[in-house]
Amino acid sequence: MPYEGYRVYGPYARKNGRKFVTLYRSEKDRLTVSYSRYVVAKDIGRELGQHEDVHHINDDFTDDRLENLQLVLAVTHDIYHAKLKAMAQRSVKEQR
Ligand SMILES: [Zn+2]
Repeated sequence: MPYEGYRVYGPYARKNGRKFVTLYRSEKDRLTVSYSRYVVAKDIGRELGQHEDVHHINDDFTDDRLENLQLVLAVTHDIYHAKLKAMAQRSVKEQR
């Protein structure tokens, strides 16, 4: 199981609403991961790699319910959000 032997503190929200958990094994051995990554890791039974991301299906990054989370490749995730941003900017210009 992922994060075996760690004590879990959280989830707690940061100012922007994103939730995190801090995992402790000892004073020196602790790590903080986003709650969405933690939830998906627990579901699939392994920790996520650096090349993997969690996408919020409804685009609400405060909504970390498992059914709102999708495991994606980090590279395609970045492209997806860059395209969405570009589309949003274009539609703002068209309205002027
Ligand atoms: Zn996303």
